Amino acid sequence: MNAALDSAVLPRSLQIETGIAAANAEFVALRRDLHQHPELAFAEHRTAGKVAALLQQWGYQVTTGIAGTGVVGSLRRGSSQRALGLRADMDALPIHEATGLPYASQNPGVMHACGHDGHTAILLAAARFLALHGQFDGTLQLIFQPAEETGSGARRMLEEGLFERFPCDAVFGLHNWPGVSCGHIGCIEGPAMASVDQAHITVHGKGGHGAEPHNTVDPVLVSAHLITALQSVVSRNVDPLDMGVLTVGSIHGGHASNVIPDSVELKLTARTFRPEVRSLLQQRVPALVEAQAASFGARAEVDYRLGFPPVCNHPAETALAREVAQDTLGAARVEEAFRPRTASEDFAFMLQARPGSFVFFGNGDSAGLHNPRYDFNDAILPLAASYWVALAERYLPQPTAAT
Ligand SMILES: [Zn+2]
Ligand SMILES: [Zn+2]
Repeated sequence: MNAALDSAVLPRSLQIETGIAAANAEFVALRRDLHQHPELAFAEHRTAGKVAALLQQWGYQVTTGIAGTGVVGSLRRGSSQRALGLRADMDALPIHEATGLPYASQNPGVMHACGHDGHTAILLAAARFLALHGQFDGTLQLIFQPAEETGSGARRMLEEGLFERFPCDAVFGLHNWPGVSCGHIGCIEGPAMASVDQAHITVHGKGGHGAEPHNTVDPVLVSAHLITALQSVVSRNVDPLDMGVLTVGSIHGGHASNVIPDSVELKLTARTFRPEVRSLLQQRVPALVEAQAASFGARAEVDYRLGFPPVCNHPAETALAREVAQDTLGAARVEEAFRPRTASEDFAFMLQARPGSFVFFGNGDSAGLHNPRYDFNDAILPLAASYWVALAERYLPQPTAAT
């Protein structure tokens, strides 16, 4: 009665699906364990320890301590020089969990609110299958990255020689995405997530009595004009066919209704999809702010901090990702209308160093990312693990016939 399940007669995609499904409970349990024990950026010691121990157990050559808590598991088969990088992120956020789940965070004020617990478990599930049953000739480099949320983990891994020490011809990543049906996937060629930069602005005026504004230089009034004037950058400097976002998300100044303060501080975030637009904002924001403040007799200091570049998916690797997604999930589940996102991801740095593609797995109707009520949808786990396995076997050459 098991003839139909005989692995020799099943198409490879079904063999992968069946093999991943057989071990799924173990990885759901692992995902929930990671969820219960979230760790902040560069403090993922317990998580990294678990990752390293499991990879070792399955026969990977394991390197720890890259970028502090980063882990790379390498698995070489056959003689092909081709090498593939698959990346997961491991860190949690400084958020107090409000899900009330039985496996909610036991670390008060720290929470896996972005699903990196899921991403880590997905890559481990794929790692186990690939070690035990993988059909490939070449090298797998499984990259477990720390500190995605602070934007410094990927960069630090690269600075510490990630791709020199663990050569990869291409690198792929994924993220769960709330609001997209579970089992569906979004693959986008070109810009898929925005760059993120920030500006900290200090407006220096001259404080004084609120009843004698003529004896002051009012930084509150100047700030109000700045916030309005900044809206002209996207609407009047950026090409209307390009995307740009400037959001002033923070303003602090003064304490009393009848006192004009000496200074006001503003913080803004800037998002774009194209390097040219990114440079334009970097140039226009300080120029406009400084000149506008000067026009009131005030002085503005602008500390413009570059964060991540946009996540730019490479065409050939994205075509491969889409093909694999169609085979793994079915063509109907590859969301053709999936649009680029204005959030950002430090995987962008890896895609600047190597070709690759970053895809989005629907998390269903969950709370949004970075929300205290968010939870990773465990139903994604076997689907995404199967996607990783199929991608690895498609990207790397097939093993030559046994001798
Ligand atoms: Zn996040
Ligand atoms: Zn994330």
